[in-house]
Amino acid sequence: MGVHRNARCRGPYGGEGHRAGGTDCSDPAVFEIARHDRPPLPVCPVHLGPALLMASGVLWPPVIHLIGRVPGLRP
Ligand SMILES: [Zn+2]
Repeated sequence: MGVHRNARCRGPYGGEGHRAGGTDCSDPAVFEIARHDRPPLPVCPVHLGPALLMASGVLWPPVIHLIGRVPGLRP
């Protein structure tokens, strides 16, 4: 958990290939989206939803890990 403390959001596209340019969010990542054949995608709360729909390799149903703290959210 501490390893991810400084992770930055890579949403909503995942920062790969031709869509890497759209990944310019630098907010702290709070969630990590598991992906098929790709490294997990760290995202901020704002980009969690969009990333599930637009990033490459997202599993369905989504597999999301909480890696940061969200006020009011109790895992
Ligand atoms: Zn973001």
